[in-house]
Amino acid sequence: MEESKKLNFLEEIIEDDLKSGKVSSILTRFPPEPNGYLHLGHAKSLCINFGLAQKYGGKTNLRYDDTNPVKEDVEYVDSIKEDIKWLGFKWEKECYASDYFDQLYEWAEQLIMRGLAYVDDQSQEEISKGRGTVETPGTNSPYRDRTPEENLKLFREMRDGKYAEGEKVLRAKIDMAHPNMFFRDPLLYRIKHASHHRTGDKWCIYPMYDYTHGQCDSIENITHSICTLEFDVHRPLYDWFIQTLGIYPSHQYEFARLNLTYTLMSKRKLLELVQKGYVAGWDDPRMPTLCGVRRRGYTPEALKMFCDKIGVSKRDQLMDIQLLEWCVRQDLNARANRYMVVQDPVKLTLTNWPEGQVEWYDCPLNPAEPEGAGRKVPFTGSLFIDRADFMEDAPHKFFRLKPDGEVRLKYTYIIKCNEVVKDEAGNVVELKCTYDPSTKPGSGEWRSVKGTIHWVSCEHARKIELRNYDRLFTLADMSQVPEDKDYKDFLNPDSLVVGEGYAEPALVEDKSGIAVQFERTGYYIMDKDSNDEKTVFNKTVSLKDSYKPE
Ligand code: ATP
Ligand code: MG
Repeated sequence: MEESKKLNFLEEIIEDDLKSGKVSSILTRFPPEPNGYLHLGHAKSLCINFGLAQKYGGKTNLRYDDTNPVKEDVEYVDSIKEDIKWLGFKWEKECYASDYFDQLYEWAEQLIMRGLAYVDDQSQEEISKGRGTVETPGTNSPYRDRTPEENLKLFREMRDGKYAEGEKVLRAKIDMAHPNMFFRDPLLYRIKHASHHRTGDKWCIYPMYDYTHGQCDSIENITHSICTLEFDVHRPLYDWFIQTLGIYPSHQYEFARLNLTYTLMSKRKLLELVQKGYVAGWDDPRMPTLCGVRRRGYTPEALKMFCDKIGVSKRDQLMDIQLLEWCVRQDLNARANRYMVVQDPVKLTLTNWPEGQVEWYDCPLNPAEPEGAGRKVPFTGSLFIDRADFMEDAPHKFFRLKPDGEVRLKYTYIIKCNEVVKDEAGNVVELKCTYDPSTKPGSGEWRSVKGTIHWVSCEHARKIELRNYDRLFTLADMSQVPEDKDYKDFLNPDSLVVGEGYAEPALVEDKSGIAVQFERTGYYIMDKDSNDEKTVFNKTVSLKDSYKPE
């Protein structure tokens, strides 16, 4: 029997709210700022927001937090939708904070007329100096006591484009000595003479995050507004706006961000890697972006399995990237098609093979489904095997090919190595072997040997390009970059090693659309850079790892 999982703290809150009748159904939202591509951290937020709604029969809105036109772009808006769909989530409404600019503006006039907001002419430096510190109270702005009428006139002039950026701002009038710094007359609007990707040039004043987020939640009747921990200090202000305006009481709850070893998830830094060419783009397979891991061959199923395993906590933690890789392996092991690919070839000749003879084998695409779809694999007397599968002075426990030793060729005969041919420099260039015709699987007689190795027929082999990826950074905890260093100092110079391989012909015809397993080595996925001249495969993850989840 399956053990029922303990509820996480968000599930507890939601179950209480449903039970007490505080809400009759739940509505969550996912609120990305369209200033970059989604990353693995966002996958966690998506799984939580959409997962809770699914579990409790509720819904989730997609809401773009598009209040900073300078950094935002439709390219990001589009990519975000694509990534969410890829994960398999369906949003209820597609919303934009900018849809509510008129309403937010109206509320600002209302606050002004109630004496709760004022136009401040101080510079940014003066404002931040005037805020004081956690220990010392702030000082009132000399403009704080303007009359509502004067403020309204000035605010309308701000809106109408009469002032330059930085000349004036609108602030809430709360308390410059408040113990919570966010209450010391927070900024509500700033002037930005910038075109917005949706509202064009309609506005030259844009609302601040704190003034926007809660009200947008409220307008949409969001019941549970779930965000990351760093916003818990903003929550009282979130509540203050909602209470002061007397609008639908959305509530905010915070969970710990996802951090992963050997990578980082700040959009600003990821953008820098892209812009400065450290990676090939947002979808470079080394990037922790969703489009990057998709190109790498990670599956939505694996990401969801991972998010489920890490759960929801209230304490920041650094998760081991090996757990994510383990999830990828778990999912692909069950589903990926198998093919044989030799990466570092050495020629193997069967001296007793009838010249010109080709045998075609029906091999399963997935050993878990021996009756399922198959592939045809050609076998001849002229093969490539991986150099690492042969050893001349082999230790006792080496069960692959060695002089005078026997090994089984996967899916077919047992062979014996009789002669090692070397070039002048002493490198092994050919292995002369004989096969034992009586050992063909299914031929009745069964003899077993310890080792099995993979191979491809030389004349049928397809040459492919292999992009073997490793971790993007060399430092496990990227929050611990020393002061005198830059995070880019820790970029792994070996994060991409390009090589080539020889593949059985069926590989390049694979239509599964997900990563495939190169037998005995790892999972790989065909890359979009493939064309008529070359076929490119990205390494998703190696086949085995000593890592085991707790
Ligand atoms: P960044 O600091 O990288 O720009 P952000 O938090 O500003 O990230 P948003 O686009 O505002 O990015 O995020 C959308 C949602 O995803 C927010 O609710 C945010 O809290 C959540 N989120 C962002 N990063 C993570 C993370 N690492 N782990 C979990 N949730 C995250
Ligand atoms: Mg943000």
